[in-house]
Formats: sequence, structure tokens, C-alpha cells
Amino acid sequence: MKDTFKHKGLRQQLVNVVKAKGITDENVLNAIGKIPRHLFMDSGFLDHAYQDKAFPIAADQTISQPYTVAFQSELLKIKKGDKVLEIGTGSGYQTAVLCELGAKVYSVERQQELFKKTSNFLPKLGYRAKKLVFGDGYKGLIDEAPFDSIIVTAGAPFVPKPLLSQLKVGGRLVIPVGGDVQVMTLFVRKGSKEFEQHEFGEFRFVPLLEDKN
Ligand code: SAH
Repeated sequence: MKDTFKHKGLRQQLVNVVKAKGITDENVLNAIGKIPRHLFMDSGFLDHAYQDKAFPIAADQTISQPYTVAFQSELLKIKKGDKVLEIGTGSGYQTAVLCELGAKVYSVERQQELFKKTSNFLPKLGYRAKKLVFGDGYKGLIDEAPFDSIIVTAGAPFVPKPLLSQLKVGGRLVIPVGGDVQVMTLFVRKGSKEFEQHEFGEFRFVPLLEDKN
């Protein structure tokens, strides 16, 4: 688990790339500059870790593109101490970004292999989520609701109702919605039954899967 001077330099270049693509939130940029992304990927991919690209991880899943991670994180507008639910823990990279932003993170993953691997790995880097859960993200996490914000890091064919209902009033849900290509969508809860909806262009995620545990 080495993080060298070279990695730090590559990371700074990555921060500049993400910045040039339009990310302005300093806290998000600092998190990207700090987190050793190469350690979240299998060793064969070390050289690719600091390119702005998604990459394969275990169980046919991917670690999201840094720009996408930054974009979603910026939309969440996290304040220190916010209670944040992540659906799709995967490699734990986004989880680490949320921890760096000062969130109390709850994260759900439906692939057992990834759940185990990442539960074991994140504390080694000093990232302590409040709770990592093996389960189905379509249901949210009713026992811990409500949340200040919820981030879905897989492409959702539709917006799961439990996620909207587990938001605090004023809370934000950031979710890519669609089939092969998804539209990044932000819901802001304005009242118990009132939601504002904003759309932010197209992204490609692995699918949010149903009924396959
Ligand atoms: N945030 C991750 C992205 C991983 S890709 C990262 O930074 O690496 C999306 C993840 O969502 C995969 O790990 C996949 O197994 C998981 N996933 C897919 N469907 C899910 C569901 N219904 N509930 C929870 N996790 C799910």
C-alpha cells in the first residue's frame, strides 16, 4: 500500500483535469487530490489510476470516472457532519470522497465480494464509514433514515421511491436515471410530498440491479 511522490504528482494533474472540466468545489478538489485512487484498483491498473477514466474492479463492476465522482459530490453540497447514504459502495472510492468531505457515510453494496473487500480495505486507509451494508440499495436504509443526502453510483432504470422518502426536507438525492445512458438527476425535497427536479446531462454507469442477491 504505497503512496509515492509520483502518485501525488499524478493526482495533482488529475485535479487540474477535473477542474478544467468544470468542477469548482474546493473541498471536492482537495479530496480528489488527497485520496490514493491507485490503491482502490487492482495492481495491474496502477498506470491508469490517475487518468480521468472509469476502470474495471472486481465482480464485473467499475470504479467511477473521477470527473463523475466529483460532479456527483459537488451536487450533494455536503456540510460537515451531514448524514449521507451511498448506494453502490463498489471500490469505496466515492465513499472515501464523502468521508473527506466530513460526511457520516452509510453505504450499501449488493455484491458480497465487493462488500467484503471494501469493508476490509477502507479502514486500512483511515476511512471509517458509519456503516457499510450488504444489501439492496433499491430499498435505501430505512433503519438509519432520514438522510441529508443520498447518492446513487449505478444507473437506475427508475427512481426508487424509498430513496425519495428517506430524504430529510431540504435533502438532496443525486441519481443517474436511465437505461444504457443515464441522465444525472438531482431531487431536492421541498416538503413531505414536494420535490424539485433538475437534470444535468448524460453519464454512463453500470446498472443498478434488482433482485439478484
Ligand atoms: N461508488 C463506486 C461505484 C461502483 S459501480 C466506486 O466509487 O467504486 C456501482 C456499484 O453499485 C457496483 O459495485 C454494484 O455492485 C453496485 N450495485 C448495483 N446494484 C445495486 C443495488 N441494487 N444495491 C446496492 N448496490 C448495487
